[in-house]
This record gives sequence, structure tokens and C-alpha cells, in this order.
Amino acid sequence: MKIYLFGHDCRYAAEQMLLTLFPGERPEYPDGTPEGDRAELSYFEGTARATAVCRFVRGGDVFVGRAAADRAKMTDDLSRARLLQRIVALSFYRAALNAGIKKPVWGALTGIRPGKLMSRLLQEGLSDRAALSKFVRDYDADPSRAKLCLYTAHAGLDCEKSLAPKDICLYIGIPFCPTRCAYCSFVSISVEKSMKRIPEYLAALDREIEETAAVIKELKLRPVAVYMGGGTPTTLSAPQLDALCTKLEETFDFSAVREYTVEAGRPDTITREKLAALKSHGVTRVSVNPQTMDDRVLAAIGRKHTAADVLEALDAVRQADGFLINMDLIAGLPADTPEGFQKTLETVLSLAPENVTVHTLALKKGSGIMREDTPLPPPEAVGEMITAADEALFSAGFLPYYLYRQKYMSGGFENVGWQKGGTESLYNICIMEELCSIVALGGGGSTKLCMGAGRIERLFDPKYPAEYIESIEKVLADKHKITQLLARPQGPAGLQEDRYHAL
Ligand code: SF4
Repeated sequence: MKIYLFGHDCRYAAEQMLLTLFPGERPEYPDGTPEGDRAELSYFEGTARATAVCRFVRGGDVFVGRAAADRAKMTDDLSRARLLQRIVALSFYRAALNAGIKKPVWGALTGIRPGKLMSRLLQEGLSDRAALSKFVRDYDADPSRAKLCLYTAHAGLDCEKSLAPKDICLYIGIPFCPTRCAYCSFVSISVEKSMKRIPEYLAALDREIEETAAVIKELKLRPVAVYMGGGTPTTLSAPQLDALCTKLEETFDFSAVREYTVEAGRPDTITREKLAALKSHGVTRVSVNPQTMDDRVLAAIGRKHTAADVLEALDAVRQADGFLINMDLIAGLPADTPEGFQKTLETVLSLAPENVTVHTLALKKGSGIMREDTPLPPPEAVGEMITAADEALFSAGFLPYYLYRQKYMSGGFENVGWQKGGTESLYNICIMEELCSIVALGGGGSTKLCMGAGRIERLFDPKYPAEYIESIEKVLADKHKITQLLARPQGPAGLQEDRYHAL
């Protein structure tokens, strides 16, 4: 879509709203006189009010949307930038709705962490009821989405109280899987071929563990949650997992660790020996991720296992005893239907996991689904699946505890983590609510340093095994940037655009 900006340069706000309202479209910013189908976004500042106006032109018809803010609330550059972005986006939203564009479930809300907005309202002292209605009113969000945010905001605020200033989470990336799922953009296309590099990868990772532990010790940071993800860490053999966990616990101080999660996402990688190894190292939480319990859908997404394999894996995890179990599902997978998804939900709930995470399919560039143009359930069907999940989980006694949105999600929905009986994952809340720094090691690891006043600094490890192994010297050197960054004097908060980037 052609976008013209007048009196401001809020491309970010314009593009986020474009993505929300017209998920398939990309922005263009032509020079010259506006023409054709377009959005003209103008901004004016008066003495008392700042106003944004959008002229949305479609097929020769013109639709106008307006939004305004009180100039008195623009007390500094940051508050001005925030309000400017907000009213520009809102004017675009209103013009598009005037043109008959279907209202998104999240209304005018953009960004990946809507729960943080609800947290802010509660921190300002609003009651649950007042926060809910303000959230719905301000963002035009569906009340069902506001309700999800209320639960996750409370979970975040409770979690925050339990953290000390030097607490951190550790992430260890194992970017290997037995095969690549059709919707995946995490592991490399040649994931099967890269398996032979596991020993080299683990040797490099050992070096990064040592370097990172030294930095963390020097900074007196205290790991409280450990998360081994990927990829699928249980792609490693039992002796490899045992050696890795031994290295971790001998190198880091795990005495304050409250939660230790290992993703065992693919049931076809789970064995009793691996579970015994994990248990012997104090792993507390295991994630077994069927995504669907429909064999047809499993085949359509390139999984080489059946729903029966999931049942067998779950049985093995239960028999190993002592693990909290999370199960991930995805709404909107190819070949799935609302009826099929409902059956998946029923089967998963009958297995009584403590946590269930319901994702909405995100259409990621580089995934097999996008490359092959695979037919997918329409957004209405995805909406039915998400509604069914919310209803089934609430009535089974689960509560939402973290939530995030991603770019290009089917129907503009979200991913929600649900827990039963106070079993929420500390790591998931910390990363989503940005409550403490996450120090990441291994392929695909993304270190996020919380610098105070909402500032975040990021450091990235290379994504794929080959580049990780080959650039290990740089990876080790980069770990010392953690010290440099945390030693920097804390400047004023910048505008943290809640972008749809990798978490
Ligand atoms: S299990 Fe996860 S990381 Fe591995 S291929 Fe499938 S989606 Fe990608």
C-alpha cells in the first residue's frame, strides 16, 4: 500500500498498523503527489491538542479517521514520541474501519506484548474492572483479549515481586531436530545433515558455557531459571545430554535455580534414558509438543511421528516422575479444521499436562509452508480454534499466564501459555514481561539485557550450527560485551518500540 506521511516520520507506527489491518500488504513510500489507493497520514500540533488525520483512499472513495492527544501530556521527547505514534496509528485504524475493513480482535493494538499495557494500568492503581474497560476502550480490543491480558498481567506482577535485582535467566540453544517441520524457520533447511556436527557443536558450546559463567560470576548475576530450547534438545543422545547438564551445573552456580526446563518438543526424540539423565540433573519441566493430535495434520507439517507416539512419550515422562509437563499446540496448521482442533484439545486435556501453550500459526518467510504456498485454514476457522481453546482451557481450570503476538499470525491472534494449579513457568513470564535479563548461549541464542527504565540491549549468537562452530571465537569475545553494556551509565529511556522481532 502507498503511504504518505505529512508533518511527521512515524513509519514504524504506520507499518505496524498496516500489518494489523492488511496482513498481506507491504508499505511503499512514493515521492510526489499522492495518487491511487493509499493512506495519507498527517500530524498537526496546536497549543492545546495534537491531532493526527488519516485520509484512506480506496477505489476513488475517501475515508477519514482522526485521533488527538493532549499536548500537556507531552512532557518530554519520549512521551511526545509515544503519543505521536499512538495517534498516527489510531487515525489510520479509524479510517480503515470507516472504509469497512473488518475490526481485528486486538483492535488498534500493535506490538508483541499487549500484556505489558495491562500491567501498566494495574500499576497505576486501576482495579481489574477499571483496567479491563480502559483497555477495551483505549485500544478498541475485544473484551476476550483484554481478559487474557488481565490474567497475564497479574502473573507478571506477581512474578516481578519474587525477583531480586541480580536475578537472571539462562537460555541454552540446541539448534538440532530430527527433521524440519513445514512451518519452521528456526532450524536450517538441511537440519538432518547438520546432525553429524553435534559433537563439534557441543565442544564449542562447552567453551561458551565457561566464558559466560566467568562473566556472570564477575557481575554477581544469579541464575534463577534455566531453559534449554532450540531446535529440540532431546535430539542429543542420553550421554550427550548428561555431559551437557554436568558441564552446566559444574560451571554455573545453580544454587538459586527455581525452574529448569528442557524442550523435548518432538516425541520421537524422547527415551527413558534421556529422561533419566535430565532428572538426575534436576530438570523440573519438560515440554512435549505435539502441535496437533491428528495424524493427517502431523503428516501435512512434515512430522515423522504419529499421535500414538505422543501418547507413548507422555507415558514415559509421567513414569519418569517429577517433571511438570507443557504441551504446545498450534491453531491454523495445514489440513486442520475447527473440529479436528477440538479433538486435539480434548485428547491433550485428557493427558492432564500442567501447562498448555496454544500458538497461532505464524507465516514465516523461509518456512516450507511459505515456500510451497501450502493451503491453510482461513482466518475465521483459526478464530474458531482459538475460541475453542480458550473455552476448553478455562473450563478445565487452566489460566493464561503469558501471552505474545508475532508478525503474520493467522487471523491476527496470539500465543498464550496456560497453567493449572500455580505451575506457571518463571522463564516464560520473565522473557515475555522483560522482568530480568536473559543470558543466552548456543545457536540461535538471543541475550536480552534489561538495563532499567525499559531499556533493553541485545546480543545474538549465530543461528545455525555451522556458523556457530565457525565463529566461536567471536561468540566468546562477544560474551564480554555483557560486562561492558551492564557497566554503562544508565541513560534516559529510549523509545522501546515493541517490535515484532524475534524473542
Ligand atoms: S521441532 Fe521446532 S525447531 Fe524443530 S523443526 Fe519443528 S518447529 Fe523447527
